[in-house]
Amino acid sequence: MKKHNFYAGPSILPQYTIDKTIEAIKDYEGSGLSVLEISHRSKEFDRTMADAAALFKDLLSVPDGYSVIFVGGGASTQFFHVPYNLLQTKAAYLDTGAWSSKAIKEAKLFGDVDVVASSADKNYTYIPKDYVVPADADYFHITSNNTVRGTEIRKDFDVPVPLVADMSSDIFSRPVDVSKYALIYGGAQKNMAPAGVTFVVVREDILGKVDRPLPTMVDYRTHIKKGSLFNTPPVVVVYAALQTMKWLKDLGGVEVMEKRNIEKSNLLYEEIERSKLFRCTVPDPEDRSRMNATFLMKDEYQDLTADFLAFAAERGMVGLKGHRDAGGFRASLYNALPLESVQALVDCMKDFEAKH
Ligand code: PMP
Repeated sequence: MKKHNFYAGPSILPQYTIDKTIEAIKDYEGSGLSVLEISHRSKEFDRTMADAAALFKDLLSVPDGYSVIFVGGGASTQFFHVPYNLLQTKAAYLDTGAWSSKAIKEAKLFGDVDVVASSADKNYTYIPKDYVVPADADYFHITSNNTVRGTEIRKDFDVPVPLVADMSSDIFSRPVDVSKYALIYGGAQKNMAPAGVTFVVVREDILGKVDRPLPTMVDYRTHIKKGSLFNTPPVVVVYAALQTMKWLKDLGGVEVMEKRNIEKSNLLYEEIERSKLFRCTVPDPEDRSRMNATFLMKDEYQDLTADFLAFAAERGMVGLKGHRDAGGFRASLYNALPLESVQALVDCMKDFEAKH
């Protein structure tokens, strides 16, 4: 049976990425070696790493003065690398969910943290709009897509201080005006690659301004200087990330991807709104994520939650259970998920409704 992969991450990847990685596992670009056993100091891998950074820059039109690096430790490590490198006295954070809260907790180890607004009062089901970013903050941190609760900030806005964004779960889902940001980071395991590598886009002029000594691996300048090859990177994962970026480029880039993502998410949200059984978790359509659509059974049908998951599983739908903190359902609609999978889910919801 065909599977429809709605997992939140690690998650669906383009078939192209999987096929090219299998080929490279057998023979890495005609080298006679597997990508699993190639040295990260080989000239072949050197090119892969350089191509990955260059294509990343190309896809998001990253301006001059910025570097793209690939590092280890996941986005969770960036929660402390960011303040380590940038927080001298005070940082401002927007609290929009579990991942923001984790980032805030780490930042507090390094200085004052001003949480300018939080949507915790309503279970993180909206994006706060009315807040002031203090002009004396070293930076302002946002989580652009809240993977757990299904809210998203899609506007690239101006703030009076360097803007830092965790784009783990919406990178490459739309064009981004990188010039509005001082730093963008994220785990690659949603829209790019298998788990194991973290991307960081950083405007170089914000670095080197804190007084504290930085451990070598924590200092972004180490990885910029060494082209992400200061220590051993996850070779296979970087190779896979490069293949996904090639796939994206061939399809027409992030503009085309955004159109597809609008179409997919509209299809699903319209069905949730129409349905007798389901309701959207996030009331304001503006705040609804195109990457992670969260929804619930209406109160009077709550006891059908497990039945619907079982019904959907019989039709090959995987990964639809909501995050343990949020309950209900979550359909992750990442770039590689085809429209047909969203249509299959919508059909499944309609058929389930017809039975009840
Ligand atoms: N930020 C966001 C928005 C996420 O979705 C995740 C993981 N799902 C993380 C951070 C943590 O990423 P990692 O597991 O790579 O540390």
